[in-house]
Amino acid sequence: MKKPKKTEDPAPGLFGAASTSAPEPQKRSKCFFSFSYSKMALYEECPLKYKFKYVDKIKEEPKYYFAFGHSIHHALEFLYAVKAPPFPAVGEVLEAFRKDWNLKSCLEKGYKDPAKADGDYQKGLEMLSAYYRHHDGRFKLPFLLEYGADVEVDGMVVRIIADKIEYLGKGELALVDYKTGKDVRRRPDQLHMYQKICELDPRLRERVHEVYGDKVPVLRIKQMLYYHVPTLKEYAFDRAEDAEIGVFWERALGVAENIRAARFDPSPGERQCAWCDYKKLCPHFCGGEERRPAAAPEAEAVGELVDSYGRLREKLDEMSARAEELKARIISLADGAEVLAGKEYELNIKRVEKTEFRNREAVIAALNEFDLYQKALGLTIKNITALMSDPSVPEAAREKLLRLAGKSRVFDLIPRKKT
Ligand code: SF4
Repeated sequence: MKKPKKTEDPAPGLFGAASTSAPEPQKRSKCFFSFSYSKMALYEECPLKYKFKYVDKIKEEPKYYFAFGHSIHHALEFLYAVKAPPFPAVGEVLEAFRKDWNLKSCLEKGYKDPAKADGDYQKGLEMLSAYYRHHDGRFKLPFLLEYGADVEVDGMVVRIIADKIEYLGKGELALVDYKTGKDVRRRPDQLHMYQKICELDPRLRERVHEVYGDKVPVLRIKQMLYYHVPTLKEYAFDRAEDAEIGVFWERALGVAENIRAARFDPSPGERQCAWCDYKKLCPHFCGGEERRPAAAPEAEAVGELVDSYGRLREKLDEMSARAEELKARIISLADGAEVLAGKEYELNIKRVEKTEFRNREAVIAALNEFDLYQKALGLTIKNITALMSDPSVPEAAREKLLRLAGKSRVFDLIPRKKT
């Protein structure tokens, strides 16, 4: 591709105009703020993440999905990068994919599991073969591939890289952006950025003139589409209206303003934090673990548990009082029966004779009189009744205790569900 010549006229911009006298590249970086759609998207995702990446320049871990997308883009670029048909055969496209894939090791690409890398490699081959079959015989020479432009606008140098640009004639262009990730509904924001910058880009007009001989005063983006390579689906968008581009550009300028003002507060969220490599540096996280903002939510949780327990106990008390009431009525009506039946349940009624000592002081005096207090090992009914049948205890003591003991009958009702 020939290098574009320097421009003479600025293209009329919708909102802001491209600068006519571009400073030298080395001066640019000092006075112009460099911006792009990916910077804008990252800032909107989390300003602090943006700072770590672009201000502090802390490298992120390689991401395998970027490596995969890169190799697919490379193979598609190879397919279309011919001066004139014929286009490369499918085997050559797959070979271009293989070569790019093998430039880096699994780890360099970001794969921790080599099996996953192998799987993705196969997936890439299948994806490209399917793409080739789907378009075979209909390949068209594009105007530009991987077109990179740095356009000065509103005090910024805005960079775009368009995967494929087609010239439709009469100053009209179509943009294609390949996607290789999940097939999700995407907003056309990125395409809006491309539309604005392409239409402001004076060099693009020069290229149209060079390649097609059309000297057009303005370029217009007529169609834009996201092409989802894994599913061969095209998500086409019409040219955005001026008002739509205006709203988008206001948003972009707002982001740029925040970056210039160094507003980099973290904006934590499940999606952005899940893939963030800066957790260890992020104040929202502590040593890679998410910091609970305050004890308040936990305290709230404890309060809820206390209330639930209280409500449950209240219910249980009510239910046991009701059960005791029913038990008393059943016993009063049992008339010596050992089993009673309802429609769903049967009740086994157990009657147990229980020893009890109503006069506690008298029991203590009796135990002390016969020096048995220690032997009783505490004033439990079980221990005292055991003394009464212990042959080593003097008979007088046993008789005294026996006289102090009373008997009561206790009922135990054991329910069983009928089968
Ligand atoms: S961990 Fe989350 S909040 Fe912190 S920088 Fe990363 S994305 Fe932002």
